[in-house]
Amino acid sequence: MQFNELKLDSRIQQSIEKAGFIKPTEIQQRAIPVVLSGADLMASAQTGTGKTAAFVLPALDRILRRSKKPGNGPRVLVLTPTRELAMQVNQNIRQFSRFSKVSSGSIIGGMAYGPQLRLLRGRLDLLVATPGRLLDHMERGKVDFSRLEILVLDEADRMLDMGFIDAVKEIAEATPKSRQTLLFSATLEGQVLKVANQLLKKPESIALAASNRRHKSIQQHMHHADSKAHKQKLLEHHLESGQLFKSLVFTATKRGAEQVAKVLRGKNLKSAALHGDMSQNKRRQTVENLRKGRIDTLVATDVAARGLDIKDISHVINYDLPTVAEDYIHRIGRTGRASATGCAISLVGPADWKKLSQIEKLIGQKVKREVVDGLEPTSGEPRPASKPKRTAKPRRRFSKGAKQATTHKPGSWRQRQAGPKRSRSARVKKAA
Ligand code: ADP
Ligand code: MG
Repeated sequence: MQFNELKLDSRIQQSIEKAGFIKPTEIQQRAIPVVLSGADLMASAQTGTGKTAAFVLPALDRILRRSKKPGNGPRVLVLTPTRELAMQVNQNIRQFSRFSKVSSGSIIGGMAYGPQLRLLRGRLDLLVATPGRLLDHMERGKVDFSRLEILVLDEADRMLDMGFIDAVKEIAEATPKSRQTLLFSATLEGQVLKVANQLLKKPESIALAASNRRHKSIQQHMHHADSKAHKQKLLEHHLESGQLFKSLVFTATKRGAEQVAKVLRGKNLKSAALHGDMSQNKRRQTVENLRKGRIDTLVATDVAARGLDIKDISHVINYDLPTVAEDYIHRIGRTGRASATGCAISLVGPADWKKLSQIEKLIGQKVKREVVDGLEPTSGEPRPASKPKRTAKPRRRFSKGAKQATTHKPGSWRQRQAGPKRSRSARVKKAA
């Protein structure tokens, strides 16, 4: 299938050619006609398969047809979990609207209010926003949804993981009932499906993720590490091997990211940390440094790396395994973007084995065990834990704690965001 068969406006067609896209990806082929038809849609596809253009292109097509409604408010609203992702969606919008007159902008946390208020006062066709800041403006009566035609929930799974569920629902409720709602996600399971059923009307469903979960274009393997020091040595071994082009290293905490990046710099490896405590400008600059090749290793936390779109990342290294198994899929999806192949290496320390088995369950395959000469682990792989006895108290406490971390506490979204009052240093200590 070619792009012209999708019957998009000729100005959009022209911008697609200019972008150098030759043919639509599978999700684009299947989703674009549905979006153009006006139906609600929930769609899942692996990271890096072009979901952004799958909604940006048909949304722009709609914008190019005049609205019958008076007013200035946005006709398309895209909600994304992070600032980086919002900016990337906006870049896509600009890229594909270069031959048409379309106004777009973003409302994201961590940025000054002034320009955002100006943006909201003017005429706006497409608005990309993170839920928290958008709600802020809504509560002050600064957002006009009277013209809204399309609501897009991008990376819906992640948005829910990050605790935005009530915010997303509140925003959706403030938009016209007549709207078209589109939900994009890496998976269409559990909570995502529940929310989809609440916010979408008779949606069409396109699920491409399940069959792609194995990430065929990405080689995955792991090393058993005895300790942090062992992990660091394994990491340096790979970074110094000369086989890596650009790498993204994931740590569990912000402090961990800082520390690892610092140690690497001490070894003359060009690296930098990327995490949520850095200013928006610093984060953008750091990502740009990787893109331009001024550094070749980025040490990041999950949240900071979300939506990072750098085409030539050759390796993703899990210095720590993610707590949520789904994040493993998101992480390794940062390599092997579009058609390039990539490699994902996991360093599995004493605290990571349980996470590994959850990941292997999720991806439906064993991650290949590999040993580096001279850096062999001193102990063997722990055997999978046998079924806990009912009386095993410590175990019960553990699962209770784990549950608390993933389920949502009652109360409003804002209360939960604010959390119990803690000093800044306590918050920093808590990390990631
Ligand atoms: P996803 O949201 O599914 O993770 P993105 O929308 O971020 O994926 O797209 C991943 C990369 O693929 C981007 O760099 C994008 O420019 C590129 N891309 C998207 N669609 C196409 C296409 N039809 N042909 C070539 N590259 C594409
Ligand atoms: Mg995406």
